[in-house]
Amino acid sequence: MAPQSADLHIHTHYSDSTSSPEEVVKEAHACGLSCIAITDHDTVDGIDPTREAAKAYSLEVISGIELSSEINGKDIHVLGYCFNDKDSGLIEHLKIIQSFRVERMRKMIEKLRELGIKNIELEEVCSLAKSSAVGRPHLAAVLVEKGIVTDRQTAFNKYLSDNGAAYVPKYKQSPQDAIQLIRKLGGVAVLAHPALTQVDQLIPQFVEAGLKGLEVYYANTSKAIIHFYEGLAQKYNLLMTGGSDAHGKSKRNTCIGKIKIPYELVEKLKTER
Ligand code: AMP
Ligand code: ZN
Ligand code: FE
Ligand code: FE
Repeated sequence: MAPQSADLHIHTHYSDSTSSPEEVVKEAHACGLSCIAITDHDTVDGIDPTREAAKAYSLEVISGIELSSEINGKDIHVLGYCFNDKDSGLIEHLKIIQSFRVERMRKMIEKLRELGIKNIELEEVCSLAKSSAVGRPHLAAVLVEKGIVTDRQTAFNKYLSDNGAAYVPKYKQSPQDAIQLIRKLGGVAVLAHPALTQVDQLIPQFVEAGLKGLEVYYANTSKAIIHFYEGLAQKYNLLMTGGSDAHGKSKRNTCIGKIKIPYELVEKLKTER
């Protein structure tokens, strides 16, 4: 029997992936994973449907989330694992973050209108997410579908990137706030894709706030960079996690199981909390 392995960074169509929970578990099973975590942006709505769908296979689903936060205008993603995803305080907090996301989308569409792009409606963008965690990738998809830009990356470069013409920031929450929220729920907070985010110098501050892990194993990352973050994790006594960041068809350079970590790392995550 193959050793047990996990992919701890997977999105569903409850945030900005095109994949349903059923598609996610089918793919995860097909590539031999024994454990997955659903880490949708600012929502836990996809976890239960995925658990339900996973019953057809022997596939473990652990609770996860990818919280957005911001420091010095930079978008920082904090992953949370093994927390109580039914906590009423969490659900309330996420409702606030999500209503900000909807308002923000309204403002971004307004900015596009001022730039002469007048045929985008809030409802059609929101309809692409099965929860209220609507985001820039949904707007990018509509811009491509309407032929306003040729591809998603151009949508970001021209309009949606952090310094793009139609950019509007999200709910203001610091990485420390996000880390503490996960801690309060009895979960493990992990800095997502540190090689993409590039805030290594802030890691000591995050550790002080309760950060417990680094997402060392991430799709499309070189061995040298992985080795570097293994070293940082050791230096700060942090757990190492990993995942594919699969988004179905909305992110073509990765897929479920592109990263498989040994189940031993999941066990460490469970004992940490
Ligand atoms: P949001 O949570 O709505 O701010 O959207 C964030 C998502 O947009 C990220 O997870 C990325 O998938 C995508 N994204 C952000 N900036 C860029 C960029 N410059 N180029 C391509 N995709 C981006
Ligand atoms: Zn995403
Ligand atoms: Fe992320
Ligand atoms: Fe992600």
